[in-house]
Amino acid sequence: MILLKSKTEIETLRRAARVVAQTLDMVEAELRPGMTTGKLDELIESFIRSQGAIPGFKGYQGFPASACISIDDEVVHGIPGKREIREGEIVSVDVGTVVDDYYGDSARTFAVGEVSEEKRRLLEYTRKSLEAGIDKARNGNKLGEISAAVQEVAESQGYGVVRQLVGHGIGRSMHEEPQVPNFGSVQEGPVLKTGMVICIEPMINMGTYEVKTLPDGWTVVSADGSPSAHFEHQVAITDDGPDILSLA
Ligand code: MG
Ligand code: MG
Repeated sequence: MILLKSKTEIETLRRAARVVAQTLDMVEAELRPGMTTGKLDELIESFIRSQGAIPGFKGYQGFPASACISIDDEVVHGIPGKREIREGEIVSVDVGTVVDDYYGDSARTFAVGEVSEEKRRLLEYTRKSLEAGIDKARNGNKLGEISAAVQEVAESQGYGVVRQLVGHGIGRSMHEEPQVPNFGSVQEGPVLKTGMVICIEPMINMGTYEVKTLPDGWTVVSADGSPSAHFEHQVAITDDGPDILSLA
């Protein structure tokens, strides 16, 4: 069942998502070569708490940290730890929060110092695929219009659109109905209605769309070792079009 949110609930979701956006702005300012992913996670957790929010991922299904930090061929769900971030890498940071029982969830992939032209394009087009999807998040559209728009932008560059993981509804739970795939046809899925709040989150691989999970049980990597990018926004469907909640 897809839960529609009231305007009051959407404002609470916005407060949660805004903390995520501010956290990601902080990451952008602080991220530098030599920093470990564990140190970055510490900064993220203390920033979230300084805003009066609770880290939404910590303990979620047993996840041990406040952020998922995924480098290069790691697609999503990387566990922060001792790994040092290096110049030339792309680092996906996915952050969740809880404010007054409602969840915020957003992600960005950052370039560390100078990165290759290929990686820079991957980030650019993954962000563009997200923007194309958000533009279809409108009352009366089929959800599949979002999926098809994301897929078209990503595949126009020859990239692989990850299928095994998808976006989702969000509210008092981090993952609610509906699922929001990043691939598919415009005919598919439910009709979008004012009051739905969804996370659109393309995970785009430079190579094949296939992925595998590492023995740690969390980290998802591209099957061919190619770099992968992830951008996510939390979006409310309103009478006036898409309302991006995860802005600072
Ligand atoms: Mg996320
Ligand atoms: Mg999400």
